[in-house]
Amino acid sequence: MRGPIDSHCHLQSLTPDEREAALDAARERGVSGFLVPAIELDDAELLLELCHRHDDVWCALGCHPHQASSWRDGDGERLRGLLADPKAVAVGECGLDFHYDISPRDVQIRVMREQWQLAVELDLPVVVHNRESNDEMLEVARSPDFADLRADFHSYAGGVEMARELLEHGFYLGMSGMVTFRLADNVREVLEIAPTGRLLVETDTPYLAPVPYRGKPNRPAYVVEILERIAQEIGITAQEAAAATCENFFRLFDRAGSDEALGSVV
Ligand SMILES: [Zn+2]
Repeated sequence: MRGPIDSHCHLQSLTPDEREAALDAARERGVSGFLVPAIELDDAELLLELCHRHDDVWCALGCHPHQASSWRDGDGERLRGLLADPKAVAVGECGLDFHYDISPRDVQIRVMREQWQLAVELDLPVVVHNRESNDEMLEVARSPDFADLRADFHSYAGGVEMARELLEHGFYLGMSGMVTFRLADNVREVLEIAPTGRLLVETDTPYLAPVPYRGKPNRPAYVVEILERIAQEIGITAQEAAAATCENFFRLFDRAGSDEALGSVV
């Protein structure tokens, strides 16, 4: 049986040695795949090189809301070219972050919309970051421009009400180590209403290490503890949760299941 997939790990934040060690340690615990999302377009070279060396690693390419101010005219075309690589299975991560407000809000919205438009055009899913920006996020998501958008709302912590609307849109919710945090009832509540067929599991490495590793650097191997807690909350076995979230992963990130993206492994 296939082990869980870490659908969101920023391996680019680790040193090259740490990166390979983190992948090996996770594989030893049965983790069967890794999606590494870009923070900025300049990550693409490193991420694609990593993906092409490992059959079980894929990437998302795009521009994080913190970096939205660095988005230049022509970056949409640059991103379109980069997304021709079969190991790039999604656009992202992109979105809104009104907690840190590192880039001006109007710029964040504009840069997110441009990436979402590209994703719809290329029929690729988006990996979405959303923090303290529920109203503005939903306003964009409701636009007819994005009726066909496919999305993973990663490290989801937007509450039950927003979750219901996102699920109505057909979007997926990425559950992170927050699900293990003592005070995160708001995250666990989402598991009461979300169908198992719309859940993804992720570490958000190197952030948000789950209990019992809280406060330490997070690693993809810890996706096992996150999955176990999700399974416990839903009332299914960890194996069932792994099978469901893997199936969801390949349904949403369908390019990852294509022969091309699997490279030499047929
Ligand atoms: Zn991220």
